[in-house]
Amino acid sequence: MMIKCDEHGFSNGLLVSPDIKEQIQNSMHYTNIITIDYEYKGDVVDSFYLSECFAQKYGFFCNKILTLPDDYPEWVSKLAPLCEKCFQKFTNFR
Ligand SMILES: [Zn+2]
Repeated sequence: MMIKCDEHGFSNGLLVSPDIKEQIQNSMHYTNIITIDYEYKGDVVDSFYLSECFAQKYGFFCNKILTLPDDYPEWVSKLAPLCEKCFQKFTNFR
Protein backbone atom coordinates (compact mmCIF):
# COMPACT_ATOMS: atom_id res chain seq x y z
CA MET A 1 0.00 0.00 0.00
CA MET A 2 1.46 3.37 -1.01
CA ILE A 3 0.48 6.50 0.87
CA LYS A 4 1.51 10.13 0.63
CA CYS A 5 3.29 11.43 3.70
CA ASP A 6 3.75 15.15 4.30
CA GLU A 7 7.33 14.54 5.35
CA HIS A 8 8.42 11.59 3.23
CA GLY A 9 6.30 11.88 0.08
CA PHE A 10 5.03 8.64 -1.41
CA SER A 11 5.98 5.86 0.95
CA ASN A 12 5.04 2.37 1.87
CA GLY A 13 2.11 2.41 4.28
CA LEU A 14 1.52 0.20 7.30
CA LEU A 15 -1.76 -0.41 9.07
CA VAL A 16 -1.70 0.68 12.70
CA SER A 17 -4.32 1.25 15.36
CA PRO A 18 -5.68 4.83 15.22
CA ASP A 19 -4.21 5.79 18.60
CA ILE A 20 -0.69 4.96 17.40
CA LYS A 21 -1.19 7.04 14.29
CA GLU A 22 -2.40 9.99 16.30
CA GLN A 23 0.59 9.89 18.65
CA ILE A 24 3.11 9.58 15.84
CA GLN A 25 1.50 12.42 13.90
CA ASN A 26 2.03 14.52 17.00
CA SER A 27 5.71 13.50 16.90
CA MET A 28 5.40 11.41 20.02
CA HIS A 29 7.38 8.24 20.35
CA TYR A 30 5.42 5.07 20.76
CA THR A 31 6.57 1.84 22.35
CA ASN A 32 4.80 -1.32 23.49
CA ILE A 33 3.41 -2.13 20.10
CA ILE A 34 1.71 -5.47 19.65
CA THR A 35 2.28 -6.98 16.23
CA ILE A 36 -0.27 -9.32 14.74
CA ASP A 37 1.09 -11.28 11.78
CA TYR A 38 -0.99 -13.38 9.46
CA GLU A 39 0.72 -16.25 7.76
CA TYR A 40 -0.19 -18.35 4.81
CA LYS A 41 1.72 -21.54 4.12
CA GLY A 42 4.52 -20.51 6.43
CA ASP A 43 5.02 -16.98 5.06
CA VAL A 44 3.90 -13.84 6.84
CA VAL A 45 1.63 -12.13 4.34
CA ASP A 46 0.25 -9.27 6.42
CA SER A 47 1.29 -7.50 9.59
CA PHE A 48 -0.75 -5.14 11.72
CA TYR A 49 0.58 -2.91 14.50
CA LEU A 50 -1.63 -2.29 17.49
CA SER A 51 -1.40 -0.31 20.70
CA GLU A 52 -1.69 -2.41 23.84
CA CYS A 53 -5.03 -0.82 24.60
CA PHE A 54 -6.45 -1.55 21.15
CA ALA A 55 -5.00 -5.07 21.08
CA GLN A 56 -6.37 -5.99 24.50
CA LYS A 57 -9.82 -4.90 23.46
CA TYR A 58 -9.72 -7.67 20.88
CA GLY A 59 -8.10 -10.27 23.12
CA PHE A 60 -4.44 -9.91 22.14
CA PHE A 61 -1.99 -9.60 25.01
CA CYS A 62 1.25 -10.24 23.15
CA ASN A 63 2.58 -10.54 19.61
CA LYS A 64 0.79 -13.23 17.64
CA ILE A 65 1.21 -15.10 14.42
CA LEU A 66 -2.16 -16.27 13.15
CA THR A 67 -3.24 -18.27 10.15
CA LEU A 68 -4.64 -16.10 7.39
CA PRO A 69 -8.45 -16.26 7.60
CA ASP A 70 -10.83 -16.08 4.65
CA ASP A 71 -11.98 -12.72 5.91
CA TYR A 72 -10.11 -10.41 8.22
CA PRO A 73 -11.71 -9.81 11.60
CA GLU A 74 -13.65 -6.64 12.14
CA TRP A 75 -10.87 -4.82 14.01
CA VAL A 76 -8.71 -4.76 10.88
CA SER A 77 -11.17 -2.34 9.28
CA LYS A 78 -10.56 0.09 12.16
CA LEU A 79 -6.84 0.39 11.45
CA ALA A 80 -5.34 3.47 9.88
CA PRO A 81 -2.58 3.70 7.25
CA LEU A 82 0.65 5.25 8.40
CA CYS A 83 3.88 6.00 6.55
CA GLU A 84 6.44 3.28 7.22
CA LYS A 85 9.27 5.78 7.58
CA CYS A 86 7.36 7.78 10.18
CA PHE A 87 6.56 4.55 11.98
CA GLN A 88 10.22 3.58 12.09
CA LYS A 89 11.23 7.05 13.22
CA PHE A 90 8.88 7.12 16.21
CA THR A 91 8.90 3.49 17.29
CA ASN A 92 11.56 0.98 18.15
CA PHE A 93 10.87 -0.98 14.96
CA ARG A 94 13.53 -1.29 12.26
ZN1 LIG B 1 6.49 9.69 6.74
